[in-house]
Amino acid sequence: MIPQTRLRFAVLIPLLFPPLLSTFASAEPKIHVVVSVDWEGRDITPENIAAMKAFRTDFPGIPLQMFLNAAYFTKVGANPKQIVEAMNSVLAPGDEKGLHIHGWKSLIEASGVKFRSEPAFRGPIDMSKCVPDCGHDVNITAYSEAELRKVIAFSLKTLEKNGMGRAKTFRAGAWQADKKVLRALAAEGIVLDDSATDAEFLKERWGKTLLYPVTKKIWPDTVAASQPYWIDLGQGHKIQELPNNGCLADYVSGESILKSFQANRDLFKKDPSKDVYLSIGFHQETAVKFLPNLRKGIELIRAEAAAQNLPVDFTVPSKQGLKI
Ligand SMILES: [Zn+2]
Repeated sequence: MIPQTRLRFAVLIPLLFPPLLSTFASAEPKIHVVVSVDWEGRDITPENIAAMKAFRTDFPGIPLQMFLNAAYFTKVGANPKQIVEAMNSVLAPGDEKGLHIHGWKSLIEASGVKFRSEPAFRGPIDMSKCVPDCGHDVNITAYSEAELRKVIAFSLKTLEKNGMGRAKTFRAGAWQADKKVLRALAAEGIVLDDSATDAEFLKERWGKTLLYPVTKKIWPDTVAASQPYWIDLGQGHKIQELPNNGCLADYVSGESILKSFQANRDLFKKDPSKDVYLSIGFHQETAVKFLPNLRKGIELIRAEAAAQNLPVDFTVPSKQGLKI
């Protein structure tokens, strides 16, 4: 809680994400589709990179909101040059370079914070298996706001140092951004969070684990047609929230992505004077397995947009901000 930092944040918001009244006064409202990629910080394999490259070749007009992870750089034996080359090989001009954080032990400790092994979504961590790393499924809300600020600041600095720019947008590992996380993000200069989702998407795979109820508790009201909004952080501070309202491809089929699109289409049809946002995406680490779901979803969205003459564009928030 450093008032000066907060003040700087308050001043920065309109500069980085203009209210768009002036910028977009003449732009026709649209259904905006934001495609995001969560980089888990686990590993980068040639197979997943190849799947992402193929996606970029097949869908050249789609910018990606890349939530990058600093944990690749903190593992024992990490080769920063190789990591940067792999990231750059799938980045394109117009992409947004945001930040993703999971509770990796190497990242937490490199940030100068004592690692916590619980609560973890898959149950207690076997600490004998922490080489090269562990902690991906530790809920980051386990940490205090001061600790989170350290991890966020370290992550931002690490990515920036490696040529990835200074992230302004964020998605929490496992969507776990409670008020404490959001306050820490805002204090470190993040202006947009993209962690809200509908826990019902996760019920089938995670229903019997901690992930489902804690996500439900943090985001009780998020549904497929939830739109961007401001979250009040108290003391006059706030952060923008773009709900990941269509969830990620590991948990939704192409048809389910289309259903989320249709919920947003219905909202748009009800009031075509207002922009509408759908946030979908996939994980870098499971691109081979689940990117086909997203491809299918995008094809279905495009077919429906063409058939119904809907104004749809694929964009990232940093390109034009959000109309809230
Ligand atoms: Zn993640």
